[in-house]
Amino acid sequence: LMQLFRPLDMLGWVYRTIRQGLIDMAQMFRLIDTEIEVKDAPGAPALVVNRPTVVFDDVVFGYDRDREILHGLSFEVPAGGHVAIVGPSGAGKSTIGRLLFRFYDPWSGRILIDGQDIAKVTQESLRKQIGIVPQDSVLFNETIGYNIAYGRDDAGQDDVIAAARDAAILRFIEKLPKGFDTEVGERGLKLSGGEKQRVAIARTLLKNPPILLLDEATSALDTRTEQDILTTLRRVSRHRTSLSIAHRLSTIADSDLIYVMHEGRLAEQGSHTELLRKDGLYAEMWARQAHEQEALEEAAE
Ligand code: ADP
Ligand code: MG
Repeated sequence: LMQLFRPLDMLGWVYRTIRQGLIDMAQMFRLIDTEIEVKDAPGAPALVVNRPTVVFDDVVFGYDRDREILHGLSFEVPAGGHVAIVGPSGAGKSTIGRLLFRFYDPWSGRILIDGQDIAKVTQESLRKQIGIVPQDSVLFNETIGYNIAYGRDDAGQDDVIAAARDAAILRFIEKLPKGFDTEVGERGLKLSGGEKQRVAIARTLLKNPPILLLDEATSALDTRTEQDILTTLRRVSRHRTSLSIAHRLSTIADSDLIYVMHEGRLAEQGSHTELLRKDGLYAEMWARQAHEQEALEEAAE
């Protein structure tokens, strides 16, 4: 009987793993109702990254044929650089992340990582190089340990502990009676938004990708928790190339380079100080957000 069951068990496990992988990626990008239509080219080589640079070269893209979203977008992220993309909602910021992870192919133009066109390498090798921390991380109704180790099946216990430490969630986990074996989600412990983000950061660190994509990674958190998580993200980004997508400008003001997007185009670029001096779109957004922040603080008093 056991012999009969084991292959079925295996199949069930494989099925669950694949399905969860798809749900995970789909939820991250809110793509549930979108078909994943991208295919590897026959005999496609693996992406090999020595210098993790990212280049968008005249990228034109839309989700539907009759509506172009990105109108010939070009920008560069240098190896090890910390670059931010900001702009009003609907500008096309998250679309950039989806294209970089190759959920879609551009209509025209190219996206290069370390000089290689991402449309010509295997998706698996591409996705290994990029770690994503989205706005609301998806956790499974499984143990905390599973949620961190998820996505790297060869991870040992020491690796999981080290990743939790780097994401500043180790002490929290160790205080739980069941530690890493604590069930989370609907069936178990309810984690706060900040704790969930830390688990997601630990998961990403375990993958150890040279490129980090942070899409509004702290925007669902309260200001205090946001500051804590930002400190962690700054630390773990130090030796990586990072692309931070943000609506709240105070979270990215210290980036090496800021690209300001407007309606699918680059409107401005520069450092925070340079952009303020330009007195354009960024300066206007900055002034408005500072204003909103003051109003919030007054209301809280
Ligand atoms: P941002 O992240 O800057 O707020 P997005 O990149 O998410 O903007 O979206 C850019 C534009 O693309 C928006 O007009 C949005 O409505 C549209 N869009 C986003 N996702 C899809 C999709 N899956 N199908 C069709 N249109 C989409
Ligand atoms: Mg977005």
